[in-house]
Amino acid sequence: MVSRVIPVEPFDLVIFGGTGDLARRKILPGLYRRFWAGQLPEEARIIGASRKPMSDEEFRAFAREAIDAFAIEGAGDAEMVAAFLDKLGYVAVDAKGDGGWPELGARLRDGTVRAFYFSVGPSLFGDLAERLHKYEMATPDCRVVVEKPFGHDLETAQELNGTLAKFFAEKQIYRIDHYLGKETVQNLMAVRFGNILFEPIWNAQYVDHIQITVAETVGVGGRGAYYDKSGAMRDMVQNHLMQLLCLIAMEPPNMFEPDAVRDEKLKVIRALQPVEPHHIVRGQYGQPEQEDGYRAEAGDPRSKTESFVAMRVAVQNWRWAGTPFYLRTGKKLRARESEIAVVFKPTPHSIFGDQAEPQRNVLTIRLQPNEGMELDVTIKEPGPGGMRLIDVPLDMSFAEALAEESASVPEAYERLIMDVIRGNQTLFMRGDEVEAAWAWTDPIIDGWQDRGDVPKPYDIGSNGPDDALALLHRDGRKWRDIKEHRTKK
Ligand code: NAP
Repeated sequence: MVSRVIPVEPFDLVIFGGTGDLARRKILPGLYRRFWAGQLPEEARIIGASRKPMSDEEFRAFAREAIDAFAIEGAGDAEMVAAFLDKLGYVAVDAKGDGGWPELGARLRDGTVRAFYFSVGPSLFGDLAERLHKYEMATPDCRVVVEKPFGHDLETAQELNGTLAKFFAEKQIYRIDHYLGKETVQNLMAVRFGNILFEPIWNAQYVDHIQITVAETVGVGGRGAYYDKSGAMRDMVQNHLMQLLCLIAMEPPNMFEPDAVRDEKLKVIRALQPVEPHHIVRGQYGQPEQEDGYRAEAGDPRSKTESFVAMRVAVQNWRWAGTPFYLRTGKKLRARESEIAVVFKPTPHSIFGDQAEPQRNVLTIRLQPNEGMELDVTIKEPGPGGMRLIDVPLDMSFAEALAEESASVPEAYERLIMDVIRGNQTLFMRGDEVEAAWAWTDPIIDGWQDRGDVPKPYDIGSNGPDDALALLHRDGRKWRDIKEHRTKK
């Protein structure tokens, strides 16, 4: 079934918040998939820890339900699930109290890789870190995994970094941005730096502009009250879109090694020009009074939080001078689609004269649906009638091209958790990166607040507010249609 999967070292993984939504939907099913793929060693141990009193057996029942609901169809049989559940245990602890901690310590083995997943709200990070030290569970090599949101602004991100730094070295801290765990995102680096074809033309001389779109069809739903305190800028742009931008724009690191990659990403963030207010469009889905509109779902009829943002961003360095990056993300849009499109300039001279309109090469990196890449290449339209040019896609869907291996291709969370066990921080954000991203984002958000900016309503199921279209029209460019799914099915 599975090829080329190398098991990780034996480990003890404690999931604080083991009974929470993230553990249920992502962490436990993801770990099971890695077990099914043959990547977890016999000696792996996974311990759930939250306040709720539960026996090992009850936690295993919880994990079984999570696997049934969220691990992919056909992922093993009952025997395989039972073998995985054998690795699970549970200890009730309160991050803010002292009960249960000695019991948790007693479950951990010496000389085994030790990782603590803080799948709880950030307000508990300091309490957990303190108690891990107090009860002597934090070894110099242990790892801690923390989730987004990593801060609400620069100040809170600095506070969180400061809290963690009191107890752990930077090399022990794994800040998860699950976008970095996606196969396509890593392939972006493989394509850029593993081929001679792209890098020589990956600059302002040949690239007209770049579009990064992360479009969702879902709204804020039951998370409305929580989301209303953050908005698209904090929830998506400061982290996910910023990370994608970094990987597209960064200089080649000298090695595929954590700090070499993260140093280059940090340089990109520091090279970002402050964004002018007329280069940003904010939106809210639905009309203010609409029942399934943003304000109703957020529970605030006067909310000024954005569920959509589109912006023109400039990277101020030699490579990208004059090449705009257009970023766009939103909820309740026409389709669920995440892609990066590198739009190249037209040929400098058309030998075909007036009879053929010059086309453009576009490299599209699709993150969802159907991860893959596509390169639009200009060819002659077949048949009689002279030299007419058309674009055809060279399309590579990973699911098709790598059909044999696809069973063993880990999803983002799975890959990232395995990287934690391996001690590889390449796909995790460093503290200074996160702070630099907030330092760039904060003035934009502060500007909205100071001006009392109100997001533009946009129709549910649309491409976003019309002003977002104008953002590119003004530059003589056009957004790629969110509806187009350039995927083979
Ligand atoms: P959740 O469903 O509210 O779960 C929180 C977990 O923390 C529960 O297991 C809870 O169990 C435990 N907990 C709460 N207070 C505790 C305490 N004092 N001591 C020990 N355990 C405590 O939250 P979640 O959705 O899983 O999110 C967890 C973290 O991941 C949050 O920071 C969230 O922002 C982040 N995140 C979540 C998602 C997602 O899809 N859910 C996505 C990205 C990031 P008890 O009440 O039994 O203690």
